[in-house]
Amino acid sequence: CYSTTSGIPGVRERTLIAVKPDGVQRRLVGQIMQRFEQRGFKLVGLKMLKASDELLSQHYHDLNKKPFYPNLLRYMTSGPVVAMVWEGHNVVRTSRMMVGDTNPAEAHPGTVRGDFSIHISRNVVHASDSVEGAQREIQLWFNRKELMDWDCCDHSNTYQV
Ligand code: UDP
Ligand code: MG
Repeated sequence: CYSTTSGIPGVRERTLIAVKPDGVQRRLVGQIMQRFEQRGFKLVGLKMLKASDELLSQHYHDLNKKPFYPNLLRYMTSGPVVAMVWEGHNVVRTSRMMVGDTNPAEAHPGTVRGDFSIHISRNVVHASDSVEGAQREIQLWFNRKELMDWDCCDHSNTYQV
């Protein structure tokens, strides 16, 4: 692999995608990952963990006053989560579109939530909602050594290099 994507603006954008405990329980991890791979995004971080209350309170720092927060915490700590970092041009915005509306009732068919869920309390997956938010969340869930810098050998099929 001789050429790199490093000179292409925006291709190093990263986002945090997490398969929530319901998605893991329902064995949807592979199908969800497949969607990001087939779209052309690059996996740069991956791990399974049980999220702590502390991690979640930072992750959902803007929601801790909401009435649904205690249930959200219970849901998110009910079992393991699969956290991933995906990289590519516009990945934050595109992955929000791939994941679909927060409320599965509003999520279009073809999106993860629109294909795999019904109710807002069990919506299968998390996706960062802004580039700044993604950077904050990635730092929260991963340390530097867990993130891989690597070049995809066939990236000329994804980007003009
Ligand atoms: N949530 C919920 N009830 C609500 C709103 C949100 O249970 O009325 C949960 C749901 O799991 C959602 C998460 O809280 O995914 C975070 O909410 P946010 O508004 O950030 O939605 P997201 O960014 O996940 O689409
Ligand atoms: Mg959110």
